[in-house]
Amino acid sequence: MTARILDGRALAASLRAEVAARVAGLGFLPGLAVVLVGDNPASSVYVRNKDRAAAAAGITAQTIRLPSAISETALAAEIARLNDDDLVDAILVQLPLPAHIGPHAIIAAIDPAKDVDGFHPLNVGRLASGLPGLAPCTPRGVMRLLDASGIAVRGARAVVLGRSGIVGRPMAALLLAADATVTVAHSRTRDLAAECRRADILVAAVGRAEMVRGGWIAPGATVVDVGINRTSDGRLVGDVAFAEAIEVAGAITPVPGGVGPMTIACLLENTVQAATARRSP
Ligand code: NAP
Repeated sequence: MTARILDGRALAASLRAEVAARVAGLGFLPGLAVVLVGDNPASSVYVRNKDRAAAAAGITAQTIRLPSAISETALAAEIARLNDDDLVDAILVQLPLPAHIGPHAIIAAIDPAKDVDGFHPLNVGRLASGLPGLAPCTPRGVMRLLDASGIAVRGARAVVLGRSGIVGRPMAALLLAADATVTVAHSRTRDLAAECRRADILVAAVGRAEMVRGGWIAPGATVVDVGINRTSDGRLVGDVAFAEAIEVAGAITPVPGGVGPMTIACLLENTVQAATARRSP
């Protein structure tokens, strides 16, 4: 058996076109502010891609570049300025921040209504409580991909490998909200392979190149690979050994071209969601 490839790139393109059409009908331009501290090369690439995608969808995007030596107080003041700027509907602070700045304090300084990444404790709490709100872009992109690909989530056994605040935990919350039976596995889990083999839907978000082997996957399962890892010979690979997994799985996302493009498309969706919610009476 060879798995169906879930083409995130194609789906993201249609989602972005949908967002652009919605923006064109809004009667105002949603505003996204991306805060980039320092000159981490990977972060600069991410920010540029977000900026371009936003502009292409008709969203007014601005990148605020700040020196890596900026103090936590000065960065919080910059966030406060954006909170007060009525033309800014959505604020994203690109992570990681320099080591001397506490990311939790900075994220908590963002107005929850403008917290387009869904990382503010209030939005985390809303998601954990099953309430509507701004949900993190990567897990939201995964849900969109599953839905558009006709993968049944209700009643499915879902295993999320990884429990970070950015991916694993919100992923588990969204799957639970969609009525999956969810297991969250992590570095202290006993017999990871056995846990993974129980999954109808396996989401890997560990950041370990090709850790999930073909033998960890139940025949016919859906495998979503969130991982982005650079190998020593310069290849970009996921957390799943793709060549093995494709022989066992029923459906699988490639890396690159799976979850990554969906993340950016969902950032645009979240921006429009924040803008419309904020501006509706
Ligand atoms: P993270 O914060 O480092 O979290 C990794 C998680 O994996 C942790 O919960 C950790 O467990 C678990 N883990 C690490 N090594 C493990 C092992 N050997 N066995 C079992 N569990 C293990 O990473 P993240 O931010 O969630 O990102 C995960 C991956 O997704 C990375 O490759 C990242 O680049 C990628 N990513 C992609 C996108 C996208 O748009 N496609 C977006 C965000 C992240 P403990 O909690 O027990 O330490």
